[in-house]
Amino acid sequence: MIRHPLVFTDLDGTLLDHFTYSFEAAQPVLDYLDEKQVPVIANTSKTSAELIHIRKEINNTCPFIVENGAAVYLPKKRFVDCPEGCVDDGALWRYEMSRPRHHWLELLQQLKPRFHSLFTSFSCLTNEQLVKLTGLTSEQAERAAQREFGEPVLWHGNREDKHIFIQAVNELGGNVLQGGRFLHIGDKVNKGAAMQWLKQLYSKLYPESEFQSIALGDSQNDVDMLEQADHAVVIASPTHTAPELVRQSNLIHSKAYGPEGWTEALIQLLEIPAQALLKREK
Ligand SMILES: [Mg+2]
Repeated sequence: MIRHPLVFTDLDGTLLDHFTYSFEAAQPVLDYLDEKQVPVIANTSKTSAELIHIRKEINNTCPFIVENGAAVYLPKKRFVDCPEGCVDDGALWRYEMSRPRHHWLELLQQLKPRFHSLFTSFSCLTNEQLVKLTGLTSEQAERAAQREFGEPVLWHGNREDKHIFIQAVNELGGNVLQGGRFLHIGDKVNKGAAMQWLKQLYSKLYPESEFQSIALGDSQNDVDMLEQADHAVVIASPTHTAPELVRQSNLIHSKAYGPEGWTEALIQLLEIPAQALLKREK
């Protein structure tokens, strides 16, 4: 039995439905975990602006991890004293695991003469262009554009030039991650390291409790988190094959997709009695 679970969850395709972004299927378990004071910590590639908005929608007041592990945000209501290494950010504390965006914008500026017409930086795109490129609404695109730790670029050149560009970024101390639509320029961060930092913080603050992490994710960028968690749940996806893991123990593959799979796995792992959820549906 897991006595002090910390739930680290990816959003798109995991807690949120891949197509509709609905979390309705997960609501009874979310309510149950809230009542039991089990933290549900979003761990996502999204920005803090996007997260603050989504957390309101799902009524979540827990810490959260943004931009693929670039930073951990801690609500001051839950973490009264500033944890070591954090900076003050209004109602939140922020622990940064990456250099800030302006560092990467300067790096790209340095590369502009060499690769002048081959890429467009996110910061140079208008909201209208972003909407067209991503399919997000204007408001969503505005929040997605508020990146703090890395810079996505749109690549216009061929593969060979892209390879040279990636090498040039590497030589300047940067890392390039190939996303669905963009190349992400930044530090080599990952969801796993950020999860481990936060788990250690919980252990430091509550030394009498033995915390166990549960990570849930559906994609390649969840692998570090899934490998390092005490318990891993790979959520089935309607659009891609499950990421392969090295670990074999304490591993669940959900049968259902997205939030249905999320619910199914947590009921099993946390031995949530059906009755506890049935009550909620009435
Ligand atoms: Mg996902």
